[in-house]
Amino acid sequence: MQKATIRDIDVDGRRVFVRTDFNVPLSDGRITDDTRIRAALPTLRYLLDRNASLVVASHLGRPKGKVVDSLRLAPIAERLSELLGRPVEMAPGVAGAAVRDEASRLQPGEILMLENLRFEPGEEINDDELAGQLASMADVYVDDAFGAAHRAHASTAGIANHLPAVAGFLMEREVEALSKVLQNPVRPLVVVIGGAKISTKMAVLRNLLGRADAFVIGGGMANTFLKAQGYEIGASLVEDDQIEEARLFLRQADDKGVRVFLPFDVVVAPEVAPAAETRIVAVNAVPDGWKIVDIGPQTIDRIEPELMRAGTVVWNGPMGVFEIPAFAEGTRAVARIVAASNAFSVVGGGDSVAAIEEMGIADQFDHVSTGGGASLEFLEGRGLPGIDALREKVEGKIAG
Ligand code: ADP
Ligand code: MG
Repeated sequence: MQKATIRDIDVDGRRVFVRTDFNVPLSDGRITDDTRIRAALPTLRYLLDRNASLVVASHLGRPKGKVVDSLRLAPIAERLSELLGRPVEMAPGVAGAAVRDEASRLQPGEILMLENLRFEPGEEINDDELAGQLASMADVYVDDAFGAAHRAHASTAGIANHLPAVAGFLMEREVEALSKVLQNPVRPLVVVIGGAKISTKMAVLRNLLGRADAFVIGGGMANTFLKAQGYEIGASLVEDDQIEEARLFLRQADDKGVRVFLPFDVVVAPEVAPAAETRIVAVNAVPDGWKIVDIGPQTIDRIEPELMRAGTVVWNGPMGVFEIPAFAEGTRAVARIVAASNAFSVVGGGDSVAAIEEMGIADQFDHVSTGGGASLEFLEGRGLPGIDALREKVEGKIAG
């Protein structure tokens, strides 16, 4: 990675501000999935092993600049404390004199967790005053919040104007895996893309068109491609304003000799509901008024060899309405195939990651991104403000 990491700066005995992405799912105030907290542990342990004192900060949900009691970080501080086996003190707020006071009293190895960053109206508008206040609590800024790196906020971008800023290990791992896909993939590079809407993924398709050897397109977005090819898709989810874009993509892929696999057969249902009747039909035989809800078994048979001989697979977006078990087989089959292949495999996207985690096979992928929106923007080839703000790697250690 071009960017400096915590290995490149002296942290011994220093006060370190660590931006994490602890935006975990909560139900009745209890954490239902602590993956994101666990993902930050290597960075936090590295710093604690070096006697740094830590100011840890994250956002949670969308409180929109106001204090929302159900979005306080106390349950997260408690879980982090259990995982690290040491106390995590909860700060009385995000910034201000009382918080800075607590931060200034931190001893080596002690941890202070700030309150939800988005309680402060200055956070999401990247207010420099807030960025300065956050920075005043530490000597070094470490960004381990890849999932928030596509946002230019006070705690992800602005703060780097006030402190030497470096990446944590999670940030480094995310950037390295995704950069490998874009810059030097082991070929063939196969892009598997699905999910609900083509409009949210078109920029990724465009950016990868010049790089990938093949595309597998499924999910709701495949419907727009099928319609662009002249198929009747019944009452399926479609984005009519994207049909031209889809047609253009197919033409350009064809010109470049890039293979595009669209569904060949599909699972259809009269409605998107758990108990709905289902049929498997060829794409030219979708019944009037029915909806395409998954890719079919023959489609899976056709894409399997392509995935098995891939050198790199990047996957974003489920192949069908996987939340409903009867419509999940396409997504599950693709997950099993990619997990079994020898390809360097990267999965991004909240729903795709949820699918492989639910199947219990996430550990069979080389990289499972913790940032849905951020990984998409990275694959679009855009610079992410939270990464751009970090120092470049230099010879020797960064002076802080
Ligand atoms: P990710 O979070 O992995 O990037 P998206 O958010 O783009 O994925 O899309 C996930 C959603 O797409 C899921 O809620 C799924 O139900 C929906 N979806 C997939 N296939 C279809 C389909 N054929 N029709 C309607 N919705 C679909
Ligand atoms: Mg999603």
